[in-house]
Amino acid sequence: MLDDKDRIFTNLYGQAPVDLTSSKKRGIWHNTASLVKKGREKIIEEVKASGLRGRGGAGFPTGLKWSFMPKESDLPSYLVVNADESEPGTCKDRDMIRFDPHRLLEGCLLASVALGAHYAYIYIRGEFVRESEILQTAIDEAYEDGLLGKNAAKSGYNLDLFLHRGAGAYICGEETALLESLEGKKGQPRLKPPFPAGVGLYGCPTTVNNVETIAVLPTILRRGAAWFASFGRPGNHGTKVFSISGHVNKSCNVEETMSIPLKDLIERHAGGVRGGWDNLLAVIPGGSSVPLIHRSLCENALMDYESLQELDSGLGTGAVIVMDRSTDIIKAIARLAHFYKHESCGQCTPCREGTGWMWRVLERMVEGKAKVEEIDLLLQVTKQVEGHTICALGDAAAWPIQGLIRHFRFEIVARIEERQAQTQASSSIAQQKQQEIA
Ligand code: SF4
Repeated sequence: MLDDKDRIFTNLYGQAPVDLTSSKKRGIWHNTASLVKKGREKIIEEVKASGLRGRGGAGFPTGLKWSFMPKESDLPSYLVVNADESEPGTCKDRDMIRFDPHRLLEGCLLASVALGAHYAYIYIRGEFVRESEILQTAIDEAYEDGLLGKNAAKSGYNLDLFLHRGAGAYICGEETALLESLEGKKGQPRLKPPFPAGVGLYGCPTTVNNVETIAVLPTILRRGAAWFASFGRPGNHGTKVFSISGHVNKSCNVEETMSIPLKDLIERHAGGVRGGWDNLLAVIPGGSSVPLIHRSLCENALMDYESLQELDSGLGTGAVIVMDRSTDIIKAIARLAHFYKHESCGQCTPCREGTGWMWRVLERMVEGKAKVEEIDLLLQVTKQVEGHTICALGDAAAWPIQGLIRHFRFEIVARIEERQAQTQASSSIAQQKQQEIA
């Protein structure tokens, strides 16, 4: 369990005020100039050594991603922070912004140094109205105090930072759709390559990072790469903010070490499963787009990339959705399928047509109105959507359904058979009545 002294997000529950003076008391913006002066290469080296992987869901090594930015270019470079947090079950970035906005801003300055960027944007989800107000206030405070702008934090580095509010489309959380939206266009993902590090915002070198990835940077640089790397298993280093929701006694966000056992996370921090551990049915461990894992696998699962991958699921955003035995698991996944159908941008056929088709089949399965053979057909369609689309929304729509079929096929079959038995029973009663009348 993570010691309080090792917490990065020391105001995750909003116990202290968020203004600049209070933030400074928590160590934020302390001697930032000395961190800036480490310079581009040193910062990237330290981030690589820390083992930090992107916290937005994909888990790509952050230092490596930053090293893809051109060292020399006639074009300006940009840092874009993805605060478009919209994945069902995920609410960590929201609280980081709400209760610790200056931590993110200091991270923006340091990450910009690493990228050679003098302009940074924070793209925030449209529905985060209060959070965008808090963030804008923090940005204004930082400018007034000389922490942003020319000679930011007296470091000799210039950084201008802009806040941009989205309009509420989930797909704008996909990095290239986000860039399109930031440019004032319809938020639709771009084909990759080219990747944003080569051709990003306004056609210039750009790196898009999640809020948490940027917000942890100042602490990594202050406490050292070795400190951050001391948490978690190899390849899964650091601390991580997990969101725990669903059928637990106390939903929460909590910062913990990577690789913490899933059971510990739920029992220690979320007050356990409603009705006790034995009442558990399944867990979606990384936000709604990763496959669920059956209760039998939850006992030994670790909250890291490799452990969850071995269980055919994923760490994703680290948002744990707990479902107890009262859950209609087919209906729950059908609801997620509807979400992805609704959020598909419609650019590519497998996603545009497939998400709607999969949702409609699942809706029939909820009622038991499908045929047993359709389970394999549905699975086959998920495989045709997965990996055949422009962006990962196709995968995100396919994986929860694959998880359902992998672990709860028997439930779908049972519901179909139950419905068939009911239909047969009522038709024989009807026949009997007709014969009696005749
Ligand atoms: Fe749009 Fe879906 Fe294609 Fe992504 S996968 S580009 S959301 S249609």
